Amino acid sequence: MRYKIALDKLAKKNPKITLRHLDRKTILIEGNSTSFAFLGNLLLAHAEASDCGDQFSPDGAGSKLFSKESTLGVYLHRLPCNEHELKGPKKK
Ligand SMILES: [Zn+2]
Repeated sequence: MRYKIALDKLAKKNPKITLRHLDRKTILIEGNSTSFAFLGNLLLAHAEASDCGDQFSPDGAGSKLFSKESTLGVYLHRLPCNEHELKGPKKK
């Protein structure tokens, strides 16, 4: 709950995050100090959230958080979870 309060305060400062591929194996996360404080509190708030999943996308939910240079979104999924089976690259 404390992180959610910090998150709401930081959201009023209009944080902008760039999320895109830097190269084939690296994701670039770019922004100013407000953006990184927002991102950090977003992860901490998710640790305490009632829902196991949350999604933000440059062209969907939470789009105002992303800069125009963003080409990737993010899906937060806290484990353990028995409700969702997420598709993605297979784990090695
Ligand atoms: Zn889940």
